[in-house]
Amino acid sequence: MQNRNGASRRDMLRSGMMIVAGATVASTARAQDEKIAQELVQYQNEPKDGQKCNMCAQWVDPNACKIVAGKISPNGYCVAYAPKEG
Ligand code: SF4
Repeated sequence: MQNRNGASRRDMLRSGMMIVAGATVASTARAQDEKIAQELVQYQNEPKDGQKCNMCAQWVDPNACKIVAGKISPNGYCVAYAPKEG
């Protein structure tokens, strides 16, 4: 079936699916961009006063953080440090 402009229902569905897929990719990229820059939380590659990233509630093994962007050392530290509970 074609509409007045010659576009079939299948073409319209395909276009709609591509728009949804594009929006999903953009949303994922935006979520990753929402992490805080290391400079803003004074990230350093060394522990501070015995506190280090792999003891923090935001730590993601092996080298990432839930809230700070970029590669994170397990021995690093930043001002957003929050000790793991338990
Ligand atoms: S100390 Fe900072 S960079 Fe390290 S895991 Fe915690 S929040 Fe992330």
